[in-house]
Amino acid sequence: MEKAKSKKASTSKRGGSSNSKSSSSRSKTNSQTNSNGQGNALEDQSPMLTELFLDELKDIYWAEKKLVKALPKMQKAATSEELKQAFADHLEATKGHVTRCEEAFELLEKRPQAKKCEAMEGLTAEADGVIEDTEEGTLTRDVALIMAAQKVEHYEIATYGSLAQLAKTLGNEDLVELMGSTLEEEKEADELLTSIAESGVNVEATSE
Ligand code: FE
Ligand code: FE
Ligand code: ZN
Repeated sequence: MEKAKSKKASTSKRGGSSNSKSSSSRSKTNSQTNSNGQGNALEDQSPMLTELFLDELKDIYWAEKKLVKALPKMQKAATSEELKQAFADHLEATKGHVTRCEEAFELLEKRPQAKKCEAMEGLTAEADGVIEDTEEGTLTRDVALIMAAQKVEHYEIATYGSLAQLAKTLGNEDLVELMGSTLEEEKEADELLTSIAESGVNVEATSE
């Protein structure tokens, strides 16, 4: 620990040549900072990238909260029990994603703040649209809902994949873990939707 601390001190003295720092020395520097419990040190070292992370976190925080409101509607609209259950399960997972976002704000010593995500606004409007455009009680509606939901999942996968990578670049392992855990759950949700489509919903809808 003491050794690492002195290394940190010598690294941060080279402030002027920060661009030429190797990535390994950079992450060592930052993880040392984290274990000291000084979240703001992240901000001191990479202010612009930290701000970008924070802005994107506000965006996905808004998006997850929007989804908490949208999923019950999708669950209710679904025809097959399988899809209803998938939406119910993902609603619970999504509430956990909201909590993880809040934990991420806490790690950054910031108050949780949501910033409107235009993408999720549009994606959930599309989900509303397919409910309007398809007949209740049909599997065609389920096919459409699966498509709409997978568009949402892919947006989330892109976001959390990028945030996890950004957290890694910033050298904050706790943030990497938070973003990575949600990333895995979004991937699982996406795969489940694919398997529901493949296991019969799509084929059964052909006879409608
Ligand atoms: Fe999510
Ligand atoms: Fe967004
Ligand atoms: Zn999701």
